[in-house]
Amino acid sequence: NQGLVAIVGRPNVGKSTLFNRLTKTNNAIIHNRPGVTRDRLYGTVTSVDEDGSGYSIIDTGGFETKDLYYQPFAKNIVWEQTEMAIEEADVVLMVLDAKAGLHPHDRELVQYLHKLEKRVIYVANKVDGQEQTPAMWEFYELGLDHIYNCSAAHNRGVWDLACAIEDEL
Ligand code: GDP
Ligand code: MG
Repeated sequence: NQGLVAIVGRPNVGKSTLFNRLTKTNNAIIHNRPGVTRDRLYGTVTSVDEDGSGYSIIDTGGFETKDLYYQPFAKNIVWEQTEMAIEEADVVLMVLDAKAGLHPHDRELVQYLHKLEKRVIYVANKVDGQEQTPAMWEFYELGLDHIYNCSAAHNRGVWDLACAIEDEL
């Protein structure tokens, strides 16, 4: 496989944790405080087929709201980075937080991605146990075809997600 995947989503949903899982590195800084990743961070993922192939992946700083971007004196560097990552990506991996539930900024980003007609994989992260979290029901409001579940921190569902990404590439 070849191609480029961009991981996007609100701050603190677990993008960097997922990036580290997929790249099998600790290159992305994980923080319990939003807004730590600002630049785009590039990594390489080895194919699940272990045939020597792989693809590139970008971790982004986190989508807050693109409206900030248009304020002349508060140019939103983080959104600018996210926008560039989305533009260059073949597949976008949008991460939702299954503990936090649906946030207005999730909705805004979903709408933005729909307009671009990019291939998007949606994943609800922080599904640490077997059970669906109560907050996850809120994601059905987004009307998406499918939402993968995973726990990047506990390495649950990451294999299935990795397979889904490769199918899209
Ligand atoms: P980012 O801002 O989207 O890059 O999020 P991070 O990867 O930095 O993670 C933000 C916080 O969520 C950190 O405290 C992580 O340890 C935590 N986190 C990430 N993935 C999971 C998960 O699967 N389950 C739980 N419970 N916490 C997670
Ligand atoms: Mg991060």
